[in-house]
Amino acid sequence: MKYQRPKGTADILPGESEKWQYVEEKARKLFKKYRYEEMRTPIFESFEVFSRTSGETSDIVTKEMYDFFDKGDRHITLRPEGTAGVVRSYVENKLYGPEFQKPYKTFYMGPMFRYERPQSGRLREFHQIGVEAFGVENPALDVEVISMAINLLKSFGLESLKLSINTLGDKETREQYRQALISYLEPFESELSDDSKERLHKNPLRVLDSKDEKDKKIVENAPSILDYLSDESKNHFDTVCNLLDSLGIKYVVDSNMVRGLDYYNHTIFEIMSDSKAFKGKWTTICAGGRYNGLVEQLGGPETPGMGFGLGVERLLLVLDADENQLPIENNLEVYVVGIGEVTNTETLVLAESLRIQGFSVERDYLNRKPKGQFKTASRLNAEFTLTIGEQELNEQKANLKYMESGNEIKVSLADVKNNFANLAEQVKKEG
Ligand code: ATP
Ligand code: MG
Repeated sequence: MKYQRPKGTADILPGESEKWQYVEEKARKLFKKYRYEEMRTPIFESFEVFSRTSGETSDIVTKEMYDFFDKGDRHITLRPEGTAGVVRSYVENKLYGPEFQKPYKTFYMGPMFRYERPQSGRLREFHQIGVEAFGVENPALDVEVISMAINLLKSFGLESLKLSINTLGDKETREQYRQALISYLEPFESELSDDSKERLHKNPLRVLDSKDEKDKKIVENAPSILDYLSDESKNHFDTVCNLLDSLGIKYVVDSNMVRGLDYYNHTIFEIMSDSKAFKGKWTTICAGGRYNGLVEQLGGPETPGMGFGLGVERLLLVLDADENQLPIENNLEVYVVGIGEVTNTETLVLAESLRIQGFSVERDYLNRKPKGQFKTASRLNAEFTLTIGEQELNEQKANLKYMESGNEIKVSLADVKNNFANLAEQVKKEG
């Protein structure tokens, strides 16, 4: 029997995990500047949290849910996306209360699960970094969230990005548009894919999101939602466009764009990359929008919301393809060279003491000859080596070497344990 990871999952190994940490760290720092704080919600939720919000004709609900009944016969789902869980938590913890500032700004990062056909940039367990902001209608918030997403991607050195925006308007808008879209699509009904036939009357906006090539052709000439906007919706969208202009953010309006989830309204956006990683095909890395109404749907008071989700795997595909050298630091400060088995204990004591003093320390565990140990020390790019043999042990001394200059000094073990920083300074200066 050979064990393998489940289809569509990945092991993130050392060498790779540093990149993840780098990306997450950068995101945390940027979110702090925008005053977003982290929320950690459960990885599984009641099935209804997602089924009621994503939309019954969405890909997520129709085919992609990882759901099961637990031993207490509760219908559970591994979260397919981050927003619904955050909204559930927002309502349950009454974060809309007067003691909290508006907008209530929060971010999350972690694994999401969708039963998809695995391929490059599409997994069954994948990771998102996302933000949500609650309680503000002002289109300035929409634009700030979009700008934050772009700044995040730019901070990783991503250059060739495309921002697509659209509006899904308010309820009134969508009702008008829905009728127009059905009228347009009905004559093509027999030519549509099975999914789209199914969705035509239930949720025609979903047809616009079809990945079927024939559907895409049909949809090309569909009426534009922009011609059906209510005054309020038009006003909101125009303001968003003007504010993007004010920040000098370039965008294209794609009136056929809808999102994979049904809860969006007003502003929606996608940030795409045509990196080599995607063979030049514009691929969405980050997507989001407004979801006024979602908080109410999950039992809270009427509260507007705005957010985005960024696919970490897709971002890393771009970073790898661009040979974008991430400034990842993994410097070894001290390698303790212990010569002979008699030094085993002292090597342990020294290494531990140095680590407690704040240095990163490696040693040999295999009783190897000095030559082999020094080789490892330079392969690991150690800044210093601290060498101790039987004689040094008897004298309670060690040899400290600054690798860059090759300068060496004799140091007392007591000094190493008391104040290594001092000795490090000394051997560097003399070199
Ligand atoms: P798609 O149309 O590609 O299926 P979606 O509309 O389902 O995307 P969202 O729900 O908006 O995607 O998720 C936001 C981001 O999360 C995507 O832009 C993508 O970067 C990432 N993402 C979504 N699904 C997956 C997946 N199965 N594997 C890896 N990343 C994913
Ligand atoms: Mg999808």
